[in-house]
Amino acid sequence: MAKAKKNSKKYVYSFGGGKADGNESMKNLLGGKGANLAEMAGHKNLRLPVPPGFTVTTEICAYYYANKRSYPTELKEQVNKALAQVEKLMGKTFGDINNPLLVSIRSGARKSMPGMMETILNAGLTEKTIPGLIKQTGGNERFVYDAYRRLIMMYSDVVMEKACGIEPEHDEGIRRQLEKIMSDMKKKKNVTSDTDLNAADLKTLCAQFKIKIKETLGKEFPDEPQAQLWGGISAVFASWNGKRAISYRRIENIPDEWGTAVNVQSMVFGNMGDDSATGVAFTRNPGNGENNFYGEYLVNAQGEDVVAGIRTPAPINAYSQSDHNKNLTTLEKGMPKVYKELYDIQKRLEKHYKDMQDIEFTIEKGRLFMLQCRIGKRNGPAAVRMAVDMVKEKLITKEMAVSRVTPAQLDELLHPIIDPVEEKNTKIVAKGLPAGPGGASGMIVFSANDAVNWAKEGKQVILVREETNPEDVEGMRAAQAILTARGGMTSHAALVARGWGKCCVVGCSALHVDYHAKTVKSGDTTLNEGDWVTLNGTKGNVYKGKLKMIDASQENSVLMEFLKICDSIRTLNIRTNADTPEDAKKARMFGAEGIGLFRTEHMFYGKGSEQPLFLLRKMIVSKTADERRKALAELYPFMKSDIKGTLAAMAGYSVTIRMIDPPLHEFVPREPAQQEELANALNINLDEFKKRADSLHESNPMMGHRGVRLGVTYPEITEVQIRAILESAAELLKDGIKVHPEIMIPVVCTVKELDDQLVIAKKIYSEVLTKYGIKKIPHMFGTMIEIPRAALTADEIAETAEFFSFGTNDLTQMGFGFSRDDIGGFLQDYLGKKILPEDPFQSIDIHGIGQLIEMGIQRGRKTRKDLKVGICGEHGGDPKSIEFCHKVGMNYVSCSPFRVPIARLAAAQAVLNSKKK
Ligand code: PEP
Ligand code: MG
Repeated sequence: MAKAKKNSKKYVYSFGGGKADGNESMKNLLGGKGANLAEMAGHKNLRLPVPPGFTVTTEICAYYYANKRSYPTELKEQVNKALAQVEKLMGKTFGDINNPLLVSIRSGARKSMPGMMETILNAGLTEKTIPGLIKQTGGNERFVYDAYRRLIMMYSDVVMEKACGIEPEHDEGIRRQLEKIMSDMKKKKNVTSDTDLNAADLKTLCAQFKIKIKETLGKEFPDEPQAQLWGGISAVFASWNGKRAISYRRIENIPDEWGTAVNVQSMVFGNMGDDSATGVAFTRNPGNGENNFYGEYLVNAQGEDVVAGIRTPAPINAYSQSDHNKNLTTLEKGMPKVYKELYDIQKRLEKHYKDMQDIEFTIEKGRLFMLQCRIGKRNGPAAVRMAVDMVKEKLITKEMAVSRVTPAQLDELLHPIIDPVEEKNTKIVAKGLPAGPGGASGMIVFSANDAVNWAKEGKQVILVREETNPEDVEGMRAAQAILTARGGMTSHAALVARGWGKCCVVGCSALHVDYHAKTVKSGDTTLNEGDWVTLNGTKGNVYKGKLKMIDASQENSVLMEFLKICDSIRTLNIRTNADTPEDAKKARMFGAEGIGLFRTEHMFYGKGSEQPLFLLRKMIVSKTADERRKALAELYPFMKSDIKGTLAAMAGYSVTIRMIDPPLHEFVPREPAQQEELANALNINLDEFKKRADSLHESNPMMGHRGVRLGVTYPEITEVQIRAILESAAELLKDGIKVHPEIMIPVVCTVKELDDQLVIAKKIYSEVLTKYGIKKIPHMFGTMIEIPRAALTADEIAETAEFFSFGTNDLTQMGFGFSRDDIGGFLQDYLGKKILPEDPFQSIDIHGIGQLIEMGIQRGRKTRKDLKVGICGEHGGDPKSIEFCHKVGMNYVSCSPFRVPIARLAAAQAVLNSKKK
C-alpha cells in the first residue's frame, strides 16, 4: 500500500487487492464511504471484490477551506503513489493511450448525505485515451463514447459550473443545455432512448458538447487526465459548501467542520452490455424490516441511472417484486451465479457489521464488484422490527437493540395510519411504491418552494414531483408527505423520506404531472394545486380527498416486544399526565406505570364540563365560606367520579392528584348571558356579580392567587378535594382494588404553606377513616417543585413533603423569567441569534434550570433519604430531558399518554449512555 513519506502527514489511504490502509473505525478521517470501502476491501473476514482506489482524508477538506482552496504540497506525491498502486492492481495506467485506467471521484462525509455532494465518473477519458479503451473493450466504440459524453456532461456541470460558483437561472445550467442537445439529437434520429444512439451519434454529441461548453462557460473542457483528476477532487471538496449540502447539514445537524473525504476509485462498468448491470440492495427490507434480501438493479446501466430514477429498476429477486416491476427479470433469474455470489456477500456483510447494510454493486461483464456498503437507513417500523429480530437471532444484544432505534423512529410507529374502513371504501387514484410509512394527507403543491411557503402559512401540504432531486430537500421537509411519478425504492425521494421516516410514495407511473398547469392526472382524475390527497406510504396508495386517520400503535406486537426490551434495561419509572379515566386507560395500554399529574381543573374544560364548570363558577364568585361550601358540596360528586374512575383505571399504581392550580378568575364567565345565569343561581343582581368578578381580577395572574395560595385563603377548597381523593380510595379499597393516591400541593414556595395544608389533609384523613371504618388508606402527601425558592429550600420542604414532583413548566418560566404563554413573541429571534440553543420549554435547560433541579433533589434527600422524586412538566416526554432526569436520580418521569413509549425508550437509552460516560 502507498506509504507516506517519513515525517509527512498521511493524507491518502489506499484500498484494494485484499488490503487497506484504513478500516471501519476511521470514519472521522476517511468518511463513512472511505472507511467502509477500506473495511470491505481489507478486513480479513471480508476481502470483498472492491475496485481498488484511495481516499483523500477529511483533513484535506479542512485544509482546503482554511488555505484559500489549496492543498498541502505533499498531497500530490501521496496521490500519485496511491494512483500508481491502483494502476498496478488493475494492470492499467491513468492516461495511457493503450490501456487507460479510468477513475470515479466521489464524496464521503462522516455521515451519509445522499446526493447532496458531487461525483465525477470516467475521469481519465480523453480524445487520446479513447482509442486505447475501445481496443480494451473489444472494439465497443459505442460504450466508450457514451462514457465520454457522460464525463463531459458531469464534469462541465460539477467542476466547471457548480464548483466555480456559477449559478445559472433555473433550468439554464450547462447540464440542461447539454441534455437539450442530446434530446434534439434523439428527436432528429426519431428515437426515444439514450441507448438507441449509436457510436457515431455519441461522437458527434461529444464534439457538440465541447463547443457548447466553450460558448457558455468561456473555457475548454479539459481533455487531460491529471487536470480531470484534480478538477474532480477539488469539485467534491467545493461541493461540501454547495447550497444543498449546507441545507441538508442544517436539517440533519451535521457540523460544518466535519468536511468530506474524497474517494478516487477505479471505474468498473455496469453499462458494458447485457451481461453488465448495477444495483442497490439492502440486507433486510428497509421499508418494513423483514429479514429478506431486498434490492433493485438495472441491466446495462451506470449507478447514477438507478439513483436518478430515470429507468424503472428491476427487482433483484422475487421478494423485491412489486406491482410496479413484476414484469422485469430478476437478477436471481437473469444472472443466477452473480446473484448467488452477491447473496453470500450480503450475508457476510450483515454478520460482520451486525446491522442492516445498504450496498451498491456493479456487474461488469458477469463479474461482481462491491462499490459501497454502509449502515442502511430505515424507517421507524423497520428499525423496531430489525432490532427485535436481531436480538432473537442472537446477532445483537438487548442493549444494542435499544441503541439502534431513535426516539423519532419510534415516534413514527405512533403516528397515524389511514382508517382501514375508510380506506377500503375509497377508490385508489394511483399506485406507486411504498417508500415511507404511515398515512398522511395534505393539499398538493408542485414545487419545493411552494411546499415551504404553504407550510409556513400553517397549511398541510403534499409535495408532488415527477421525481425529486437534492434541491428539493427543504420542500420535502416541509411537506407532510412526498409523491413522485418516477423513480424506484432507491430513488432520491425514497432515500431521503426513509431517512426522515416521512410518508412517501414514489414511482407512481400512472401520474402525469404538469408543472405549468399545476395539475396532476391519473386516468380520468385530474387534481389541481391545493386539492387534498391522502397517501398510504406503507402500501403505496394514493387517494383523492382527506381520509380519516387513526392510531394503530396498540395493535403492533413488535412495538410491544421492543418496549419490553427497553423495560428490561431502564431504571426510571414512566408515568403519565392524565386527567380522565379514559386517558388513564390509554396510558396504561402504552405502558404507563402510574399517573404523575392529574390536573383537577381539567374537569372544567372540554367535553361534559358544562355542569361542573357552572358549579365551580358559583363557588368562585361566592362571597362567604358558607356560600362557597354549598357550591363545593354540589361540585363534590363530579370531582369524586373523575378521581375514582382514574384511580380504578390505574389500579395497583400510584396516582398523583394535584390540588386545583390556576387563578380562579380564569373561570369567571365573560358573556353576559352566562353572567346573568350565575347571578341568578347565587341570588344576586348583575351589578353585585360584576363587583365580585372584578375583585378577582389580577395584573399578573401567573404569579398571583393560584396553586396553594388558593388553599391557604379558602381551606374549604383543599378540604373538598382531599375528601374526594380519600373517599374514592376508601371505596375502591373496600372493593378490593389496590390504590395509592398521592396528594400534591402546587406552586409552593415555603414549607409553611405545606404545613398549613397538611393540617387539613390530616383532619380529612381521620374523618374518612372513621366514615368508612377502615384503619388505613395508603397515600402520600407531597408537593410540586416549580418555584425556584422551593428548589433552594428543598431541605426544609422535604421535612413535610414525602415526594417532590418537578413542575418544569413553571420552574422554567420562573427561572428564566420568560412567560410560558408569551415566549412565542421573541423565541425565534433568540434561536436565530443563537442566544438560546433551543426552546427551554421543550427541552430542559440543563445548564441553568438543571442546577435548580439537581440542587432540589440533593437538598430534599438530605432531609428525607427515601424522598420520591419525579417530573411532571412537559419535559417529562422529551428524550434529552429524560436522560437528565435519569442522571440526577429521579424515580420517574411523567408525560402525556402518547409519549409514554418514547419515554420508555429514552429511559433505557439513558441507562446505556450513562454507562458509556
Ligand atoms: C409545571 O409547571 O411544570 C406543571 C406541570 O404544572 P402546570 O403546567 O399545570 O403549571
Ligand atoms: Mg405549574
